[in-house]
Amino acid sequence: MLAVEGLSKEYGPETRVIDDLSFTVGRGASLTIIGPSGCGKSTLLYIMAGLMRPTAGRVLIDGNEVVAPSRQVGFILQDFGLLPWKTVKENLCLGMRIRKMSKEEQESRSRDILAYLGLELHGDKFPDRLSGGERQRLAVGRALVLEPSLLLMDEPFSSLDTLTRERLQNTMLEIRSQKELTMVTVTHSIEEAVFLGDSIMVLGGRPCNIRALIPNPGAGDPDYRNREQFFEVCRRVRRAVEAP
Ligand code: ADP
Repeated sequence: MLAVEGLSKEYGPETRVIDDLSFTVGRGASLTIIGPSGCGKSTLLYIMAGLMRPTAGRVLIDGNEVVAPSRQVGFILQDFGLLPWKTVKENLCLGMRIRKMSKEEQESRSRDILAYLGLELHGDKFPDRLSGGERQRLAVGRALVLEPSLLLMDEPFSSLDTLTRERLQNTMLEIRSQKELTMVTVTHSIEEAVFLGDSIMVLGGRPCNIRALIPNPGAGDPDYRNREQFFEVCRRVRRAVEAP
């Protein structure tokens, strides 16, 4: 479904961040990406989202090259990208308004998604009146309301406390299976990478390359965090992250 082929990115002379990167993610699969700060993970996501052009190579979704942002791809940014001067409902409708959907369609989709994410009582509030977890759910809702087939997330839960974070990770598992989403998540957390990813890609080096691609067949089980296999995969990822 998603194919990255021979991707390279230079920000200028001598600043090659990504060099000849290739991988695929099957439809409905979840890939998590982990690697040191500054290795090019956000750059890779921006290119996959069509927000930035690569220097060489290409990204394909269902065989079509990504050259600009499209409705097929939802993107959740590190700081959620919410507009503080717009209400929850207005934030939710932003993408639909840009795509000139009818008022009725906007109303019905935003009502459904607010209920789906347990935010139905918050539609008229401003984002600063929400808790961190609610703001995060709103950001997820804003991406889902356009019904993408691919969801990209850049360290989506890093600002949340552990319990809220784990609850939202569970929510993402449910959403993924109910909506048959393909997911690519960048994270700094080894546990998050192992809980969310059917496979975990460890990036490193400058320019960055794939240090390891670790299969993780146990992911998808809400109780996975308590299983020995979970800890075993965490140890494998840690070894790959820490390898010189
Ligand atoms: P990560 O997400 O892994 O922390 P980034 O993709 O944000 O890494 O950045 C990778 C490298 O590219 C960093 O060294 C960063 O300073 C550099 N970089 C990112 N954006 C730009 C830009 N617009 N111009 C020049 N260099 C950039």
